[in-house]
Amino acid sequence: MGAKTMTTQYDAIIIGTGQAGPSLAARLANSGRKVAIIERKLFGGTCVNTGCIPTKTMVASAYAAHMVRRAGDFGVVTGTDVSVDMKRVKARKDQISGKSRTSVEGWLKHLANCTVYEGHARFESASVVQVGDLRLTAPQIFINVGGRASIPEMPGIDQVPYLTNSSMMGVDFLPRHLVIVGGSYIGLEFAQMFRRFGSEVTIIEQNSRLIQREDEDVSACIKEILEDEGIHVRLNAKCIAVSKPEDEIVAHAECETGDPEIAGSHLLMAVGRTPNTGDLGLENTGVLMDKRGNIEVDDFLRTSAPGIWALGDCNGKGGFTHTSYNDFEIVAANLLDKDERRVTDRITAYALYIDPPLGRVGMTEAEVRKSGRKALVATRPMTKVTRAVEKGETQGFMKIFVDAETKRILGAAILGTGGDEAIHSILDVMYAKAPYTLIQRAVHIHPTVSELIPTMLGDLKPL
Ligand SMILES: Cc1cc2nc3c(=O)[nH]c(=O)nc-3n(C[C@H](O)[C@H](O)[C@H](O)COP(=O)(O)OP(=O)(O)OC[C@H]3O[C@@H](n4cnc5c(N)ncnc54)[C@H](O)[C@@H]3O)c2cc1C
Repeated sequence: MGAKTMTTQYDAIIIGTGQAGPSLAARLANSGRKVAIIERKLFGGTCVNTGCIPTKTMVASAYAAHMVRRAGDFGVVTGTDVSVDMKRVKARKDQISGKSRTSVEGWLKHLANCTVYEGHARFESASVVQVGDLRLTAPQIFINVGGRASIPEMPGIDQVPYLTNSSMMGVDFLPRHLVIVGGSYIGLEFAQMFRRFGSEVTIIEQNSRLIQREDEDVSACIKEILEDEGIHVRLNAKCIAVSKPEDEIVAHAECETGDPEIAGSHLLMAVGRTPNTGDLGLENTGVLMDKRGNIEVDDFLRTSAPGIWALGDCNGKGGFTHTSYNDFEIVAANLLDKDERRVTDRITAYALYIDPPLGRVGMTEAEVRKSGRKALVATRPMTKVTRAVEKGETQGFMKIFVDAETKRILGAAILGTGGDEAIHSILDVMYAKAPYTLIQRAVHIHPTVSELIPTMLGDLKPL
């Protein structure tokens, strides 16, 4: 950087336009501050371009295909074989995701007091950020750089064409056999949707069950749901190498049972996420990271360097769109509203968008047991939920844990039709810090999945 390069002064610099950056830029700019926001690739980041929005759009196409195949179950007569036009699936996805991207871009570019820079941002010091040939400085800098698919080092990985959640977005054809390394949230969503599009699908998971983070009964039920649709699930199989003999791709697994060579036409790596913090020049700032590259933050999302905050996936505190957006709310409330909001105010909540979906809040059963507290549990299969029966979607179950002394809800899982929505009545009561009896006295609408939550709570038993 030449000595003559001008440095432009701002009140705030935001790096990344994910789920926290743009809203924070708008709040800061609307409060009269001079703001710079920097994006090196696609406006809107992961959720909008390669994460939630496009995948859930594709999940919807896959659900449509599934329901057409099941039409006879409902007395509906359809034509011959169902086939999926992947070019149209992709076009629909591109249209919906593209609209979100251009809307974020347009919003930022027309925002008064805000300047948009397109390029890679790198810290030169704790208060100076370089973008190409430009230098920007501000007393407050907010990092919202997100993450990317982790690619483990293994023999052959450099020689074999593999897909990630990002390159999957370009797939406009039907893979003959999609081999997915990683049986967690991202892997499972792609597995079911491509099976429903018509691909043969194999999931390779090194652990003894799918989505290890969930309880065993949840993992087992999800495995059954996926296997019922013809997905091959290989557990206790650690992918240790990949190769490409002729027109196949082979994943080599360390396993005690089953074939150690799993061949397919395409390979998707879905083994976790890596924060985009390695090329930010953080070594010039005093911002500390943990072993995984997550930026260390306190309860207010302040990093170890004064004047620098980290929001979203790069701080390792959430990993979801709603947690990244909540990070924005926390920072804005503390800086602009004199409202002391904290990360620890947040209750764990997320969904897995296979069909039927899994809605999750609070602690798992394993976490409740580990906590050693006296707890109560109630469960209900979806076969005993009228709405699920009427819809012909009775897979799954729900369960809930309550503290035996305080009567507060500790956690819940709804794996079943509408589970991603119904879980919110539980979540809101948890936020209200109210006893579970509040839900029991509420009159829920019939027929819904939610109406059985009070009924289920009537069956609480010691855990
Ligand atoms: C396949 C998939 C499905 C998902 N589904 C869901 C879901 O259903 N629900 C849910 O809640 N979450 C889901 N997620 C997670 C969700 O997408 C992320 O948690 C969310 O996008 C939050 O990201 P973020 O705000 O931290 O940053 P991101 O959205 O990742 O954005 C970071 C931005 O920073 C930019 N950037 C990075 N480094 C620099 C730099 N040095 N200079 C300039 N710009 C930079 C990047 O280009 C990017 O645009 C999914 C993720 C994946 C991969």
